[in-house]
Amino acid sequence: MLLTLTTTYRPALDLGYLLHKHPERFQGFDLSFGKAYVFYPEAHAERCTACLLLDVDPIGMVRGQNAEQNFLLAQYVNDRPYVASSFLSVAIAQVFGSALQGRCKDRPELAAAAIPLSARIDVLPVRGGETFLRRVFEPLGYELEAIRYPLDEKFPEWGEGPYFSVAIHKTTTLSDLLAHLYVLIPVFDNRKHYFVGEDELQKLLDKGAGWLSRHPEKDEIVRRYLCFKPSLYRMALARLVQEEGPAEAEDGEQAGIDGAEQVLETPLRLNEQRLGAVMAALRASGAERVLDLGCGAASLIRELLKDKQFREIVGMDVSIRSLEAGQRRLKLNRLPPAQANRVRLIHGSLVYRDKRLEGFDAAAVVEVVEHLDPPRLSAFERVLFEFAKPPTIVLTTPNREYNVLWETLPAGQFRHPDHRFEWTRQEFQNWAQAVAKRFGYTVRFLPVGPEHETLGAPTQMGVFHRDGSSALSS
Ligand code: SAH
Repeated sequence: MLLTLTTTYRPALDLGYLLHKHPERFQGFDLSFGKAYVFYPEAHAERCTACLLLDVDPIGMVRGQNAEQNFLLAQYVNDRPYVASSFLSVAIAQVFGSALQGRCKDRPELAAAAIPLSARIDVLPVRGGETFLRRVFEPLGYELEAIRYPLDEKFPEWGEGPYFSVAIHKTTTLSDLLAHLYVLIPVFDNRKHYFVGEDELQKLLDKGAGWLSRHPEKDEIVRRYLCFKPSLYRMALARLVQEEGPAEAEDGEQAGIDGAEQVLETPLRLNEQRLGAVMAALRASGAERVLDLGCGAASLIRELLKDKQFREIVGMDVSIRSLEAGQRRLKLNRLPPAQANRVRLIHGSLVYRDKRLEGFDAAAVVEVVEHLDPPRLSAFERVLFEFAKPPTIVLTTPNREYNVLWETLPAGQFRHPDHRFEWTRQEFQNWAQAVAKRFGYTVRFLPVGPEHETLGAPTQMGVFHRDGSSALSS
């Protein structure tokens, strides 16, 4: 497979500096899956072309296999050695690494300059055809030429195959062009030759920085890049949403009982009282396997870990940053394995049905509902009460009536900027009763924090028990 890069920038020989490869030399590089060669078929002041030729060694690939690469065997007899695939992305990163990162020691200004560039790939398998090629390259400002090859030249009646020669043209920096190719080549091919794991996600986010979050085909690109692994895919989209800015962040990134809300509530030591009340309800239920949904920075999980009753604890949050904070707070990697094995932090959203939440004894949902957009509440109700349906659910939320007692909180304002609503006691009870009835639970209400005669307590808690479940009642 061949990648050809051409510039007409003057002096065009500067391409040699940008690629860190001398135009007069023919150079070879050993890669784990074969060999790469770089050479310049034309090198003049007006026009300079560099080629990256990749010679994939299918036999070496099979010989050097380990367990993870086992599936390469199956590819031994297919098109891999001849078409542009993720092998070419790896070669770009290894052979043109500095150029990909926009580094040019001798001529930094050159690396930062937009210059007329063309790239041609022979041949690129494209699932989705020329339409998909255009939908991906044109929003990035490329002019595109694509030639499709018949499946077999001798048998034109077999029709066209997925193979294209593709040329793209744009005035841009070389590093942007290479980053686009690095991410997109495997996306067109839609197959990966190596194991797709968390580091793939990181690579995608690194190389997609600055363009992917705004791309109209973002979802499809991410899905294909991550080989349709739903968990990685959801994680990537969540992170790309964050990159777009807080207005669109549906993950309540600023959420957490860590910021504004904490300052307001501190004098009451409300957070501690809330955790104490939730812990008491969970203990009383007899639960051993518990969920902490919207776990934030894992303050409840830290308490749960101290009590041996809770054998299995799973915290879920939509915000990766909160999960990372939780991981640090729990010092999971420093706990003895018997302790650490009791806890798992998972990434997910409470408005999507999730099989990982099924089969638990109890779920805590502490100060989370008020972060959900009202139109999503009904999805949340089904996810929790219909599908996960643990025998016990302990749910807390602010009592809006109490807000007037906080002098520092302007009238009519919520306790936290990410709150989408705050309920009065009546509103909460109406909601909770209706949900309990619809999904076969009963619910009791408890005040948390100092109770005011007419306004109630600052936090309200509902403890739901599934009808017919054997949970102890306190
Ligand atoms: N329960 C924690 C955190 C409360 S803050 C505590 O008491 O300290 C609200 C949390 O809900 C945040 O961590 C936020 O990221 C999370 N959250 C918001 N929307 C969510 C959703 N759709 N799915 C899962 N978690 C969500």
